[in-house]
Amino acid sequence: MHGVKGLHHITAIAGPAQENLDFYAGILGMRLVKKSVNQDDPGTYHLFYADAEGHPGTDLTFFPWAQMAPSRMGHGLATEVALEIPRGSLEYWTSRLEKYGVRVDSLETRFGDRTVPLADPHGLRLALVEPASAPHRRFTPWDGGPVLGERQIRGLFGAQLWERQQAATATFITDLLGFTQLGAARGWMRYGFKNYAGVIDVRDAPDARRGASGVGSVHHLAWRVDDEEHQLAVRARVEAAGLHPTPVIDRFWFQSVYFKEPGGVLFELATEGPGFAVDEDAAHLGETLVLPPWLEVARSRIEAVLPPLRPTA
Ligand code: ZN
Repeated sequence: MHGVKGLHHITAIAGPAQENLDFYAGILGMRLVKKSVNQDDPGTYHLFYADAEGHPGTDLTFFPWAQMAPSRMGHGLATEVALEIPRGSLEYWTSRLEKYGVRVDSLETRFGDRTVPLADPHGLRLALVEPASAPHRRFTPWDGGPVLGERQIRGLFGAQLWERQQAATATFITDLLGFTQLGAARGWMRYGFKNYAGVIDVRDAPDARRGASGVGSVHHLAWRVDDEEHQLAVRARVEAAGLHPTPVIDRFWFQSVYFKEPGGVLFELATEGPGFAVDEDAAHLGETLVLPPWLEVARSRIEAVLPPLRPTA
């Protein structure tokens, strides 16, 4: 079976766009590689933060829906996003976060990895993880940001999921998406891949309410597939399992298929390419508002409703 190849990107819901940019680019030092709009709601930004080149697996993206209610923790939601930091950089990161007034929680060790949990300005739970060992990932440091290359966030490490009962999710991701169970500790089961970055830690939360997405929640987790052929093969398996994948949707920088896994968390299958440099010079990614070709006709109307964004660096 040809499973998915780790995380492609994670998308979450933020409050005001400027605060989101100031935190992820200004404090966490990620590169804003694409400033676009939500293709289903073009009056809202879609902001993409990643490494210098926007490699799949490095990319955390946001819809700033400031008018939306806060999210509610519960089952059927991804409840935390973990970012990988280089070995030996945890103290640097905790002191950098404290310097900017970001409250961090106590240091934890998860599956042997030193981890510092925190929340972003809009309540999204994050964790910075210093992995004892991790699959190789493609990463290009960005020399235009506030954090030295050797300290920069390497990309997406994974996510935590709360499920009402994880058994159906576990069977689905291992049998149909190619995940392997990597460990179990303190009520969490870890699933991931030997050769690709991107784990999910799942716990049963049978007594919790159904989670509700909103400001500060993960919107979806996107998993890498090579190309459209690979995507259609995985899509067919998802459909045969009785789930309801969307048709292939052209997101311009990649092709997407969405579906809810059995526990209710929204997943996406995203193709490797063509990538973020398809419509912008790689040296100037994220500097101007980029619209997919079919929204260019509405550019002036779209620009009129988007709040202006001040660069942070
Ligand atoms: Zn997506």
